[in-house]
Amino acid sequence: MIINHNEIMSALQAPQKHEARQILSKARERKGLDWQEALCLLSAASADKQIEEELSALAREIKAELYGSRVVLFAPLYLSNYCVNGCVYCPFNCGNTAIPRRKLTQEEIRREVIALQDMGHKRLALESGEHPDYSPLDYILESIDTIYSIKHRNGAIRRVNVNIAATTQEEYRRLKGAKIGTYLLFQETYHEETYRKIHPPVAGSVGMKHDYDYHLNAPARAMAGGIEDIGLGVLFGLYQDPLYEFAALLMHAQSLERIHGVGPHTISLPRIRSADGVRNDKTFGAGITDAAFIRIVAALRVSVPYTGIIVSTRESADCRLRALAAGVSQISGGSRTSVGGYSEAANREESRKAAQFKISDERSLDEIVQWLLENDYLPSFCTACYNEGRVGEAFMGLVKGGKIKAHCQSNAQITLREYLTDYASEPTRLIAEKKGLL
Ligand code: SAM
Ligand code: SF4
Repeated sequence: MIINHNEIMSALQAPQKHEARQILSKARERKGLDWQEALCLLSAASADKQIEEELSALAREIKAELYGSRVVLFAPLYLSNYCVNGCVYCPFNCGNTAIPRRKLTQEEIRREVIALQDMGHKRLALESGEHPDYSPLDYILESIDTIYSIKHRNGAIRRVNVNIAATTQEEYRRLKGAKIGTYLLFQETYHEETYRKIHPPVAGSVGMKHDYDYHLNAPARAMAGGIEDIGLGVLFGLYQDPLYEFAALLMHAQSLERIHGVGPHTISLPRIRSADGVRNDKTFGAGITDAAFIRIVAALRVSVPYTGIIVSTRESADCRLRALAAGVSQISGGSRTSVGGYSEAANREESRKAAQFKISDERSLDEIVQWLLENDYLPSFCTACYNEGRVGEAFMGLVKGGKIKAHCQSNAQITLREYLTDYASEPTRLIAEKKGLL
């Protein structure tokens, strides 16, 4: 069993506050925590300011030691918003008649990718609704091929991560063959009763999102299909108790590690946003405050020190800055959440209407790079590990042995220099120059 609801409930009911300091000492060893310890620490930090401060200081320390000032940048690329599922919080759900539906042709993908390359992006996360006719796996595979083949000026997309619906082991094997980076799949909520309510089955649909177990087991199927780098995630705000989601997320991560010898490569922390044509985010759970969100980031950083933590443009610039200090290692930038959103500037208003959700951080990639530099971070466009086959267990082995740090730092600097030379604005270049990075 991947998620044991009763165990989480009893751990939630009896948090051992007095153990929090002992757990903090264990976390200082940088070997991570099991889900019970992590939950106990997070509950204690939520109730006790002093423990919260100690957790936050330790998270910063671990982040600085293992990741330095590097922040990896990426952008989502929406291929199709046709969907056969009924997720009530997502405007792509098949019952929503308020948004225009479309899927990109290979030529349109080329235009989107060129627009992304002209911004300076090297790493993408492909996004698609689930539809057997509009976005079957063959379409996704062809699109990945197209993306890797585009060499425009000095640009190239060097890592394509994929966030598509849960599928079979056989299809995951084919996805692996297309040389994807990480396969990302968010459980949305681990709370089964809530999951069933907000993912109602759709009559006559072949969509599988309504099936909690099928979705939950998908990351393990992907690993069995040969995909080494898996990204887990929770859509915070769907279920009222973020502590439950936090515990379950770690339980899931630990089950992958137990069975497949390696845990998730990344954990994404999206929060629900309002979107056209679907129930407003206020309808869900009790929401989650920025302070609670940042505590979750810090608790994750000390619990899974070697797992990348991703925060998207769903969060404001201010919240992202706090999340970076607490342990986030990857952020998206210059994102559009609609199909065709990068290359079709003339239709920006139309495109906004068809977006999956409203983003909060609307700055361009260049503005984000500049802001990172101003805040003493080192923006990184590095994809070297992936390109040199350092993935899955091999990657984790190197990271845990501390053997990768020096590579990462110099690769980050080299790829930043590429960005600065080819794409940056004059003010961004000047800041980098002042910092001796150009
Ligand atoms: N369709 C696939 C699936 O559902 O697994 C692929 C991912 S979907 C394109 C990307 C993610 O967007 C979903 O997993 C969900 O977490 C997130 N999402 C959907 N509606 C959202 C909303 N209103 N606010 C924030 N994120 C949302
Ligand atoms: Fe479709 Fe994914 Fe949106 Fe659900 S979250 S409606 S499966 S695109």
